[in-house]
Amino acid sequence: MSIHRKGCNCNCKSKKSFDSKFSTKRKSIKKVTNPFTKMQLYAKSLASRRFSNRTTDKPTKQLRFLSCFGDKSIGGHLGPCEELQSSKTEGKFYCGACGCGDRKATWLEAESEHYAKLDYPTLSCPLKMPGFSDYDGSDAKDNIRKNIIENYDPTRLVQLKVSVKAKQ
Ligand code: SF4
Repeated sequence: MSIHRKGCNCNCKSKKSFDSKFSTKRKSIKKVTNPFTKMQLYAKSLASRRFSNRTTDKPTKQLRFLSCFGDKSIGGHLGPCEELQSSKTEGKFYCGACGCGDRKATWLEAESEHYAKLDYPTLSCPLKMPGFSDYDGSDAKDNIRKNIIENYDPTRLVQLKVSVKAKQ
């Protein structure tokens, strides 16, 4: 998958120059640190996948992709989520806020040969962003990035390149 930049904006100098008007980072962000909670969320995602490798639908995956990666891949101005982290594996990314770490099962991939994290029918986001199962728009007035995504042009959303990994 190609995206608009080489690395993420979480642990690099470019973070400082990221246009703050698209920022999702809030001082009050509640990272998932409780291992029991993490396991509960993971178990919920696994249960949603079930034995048939069910997936979410393409529009939902496109919305999740927009929440995590922004839209620079289609020439837009919305940068990636500040929680997005570059994997040690080149070209892969994972969520730094969910606490699940950097491994194949946690990679947030738009297009993948394997069942990727964004494919899960039920999937939580620590920022409760659009497209995720625990989406909450109640803070969208203060969260400009969430607000932009909520009001995103559907004709552009469908341009985001994602593939839904079918049953294997
Ligand atoms: S899952 Fe949520 S918090 Fe994590 S990178 Fe994606 S939008 Fe950001």
